[in-house]
Amino acid sequence: MSFSDLRPWPVAPRPFHEETFGSWLGRVASRYQMSVAQMWEISQLGAFPILSNAGWILFAPLPERTLVALSALARLNPDRLARIQTPSGWVRNRSTLPYCFRCLVLNPLDVAAPRWKRIWLDPDIEVCEEHGTTLERIPAQITRRARNMDRLLMLVSKHHRQLLQISSRRLY
Ligand SMILES: [Zn+2]
Repeated sequence: MSFSDLRPWPVAPRPFHEETFGSWLGRVASRYQMSVAQMWEISQLGAFPILSNAGWILFAPLPERTLVALSALARLNPDRLARIQTPSGWVRNRSTLPYCFRCLVLNPLDVAAPRWKRIWLDPDIEVCEEHGTTLERIPAQITRRARNMDRLLMLVSKHHRQLLQISSRRLY
């Protein structure tokens, strides 16, 4: 069976221009209540790529033929997926991943679709470009545990609440 024999997914969320590829794939998997690895497998995209310790959110950049296959499944122009690929220099093991909680949960283009911004995977980023605040950090061992984007959002929300509790204890 070749890529051209595969039927497109019945429904596929559109990628946002500032989103990272893993976030988009994680949202596709959530849509079908699968893990990212299962989604990959049933889509017959070949061996699941070797990822860093942070898991699929820090997805390795894909070869063109895989991008073309995925674009066909999602009925997208391959350029849209090419633009959200992770730069290969960013794919490395790390202890934590930065994010801005407000930006994560408040997607101005679609409030119902939280997404992980690609810029947060830049190993040197410290501050939210939108809010000017220092980014929060979540341990990579937590993001790696998430099976899809819905699960990742639950784990990040839980982590965020714990950070808030710690900082309010420090204040009072
Ligand atoms: Zn922000």
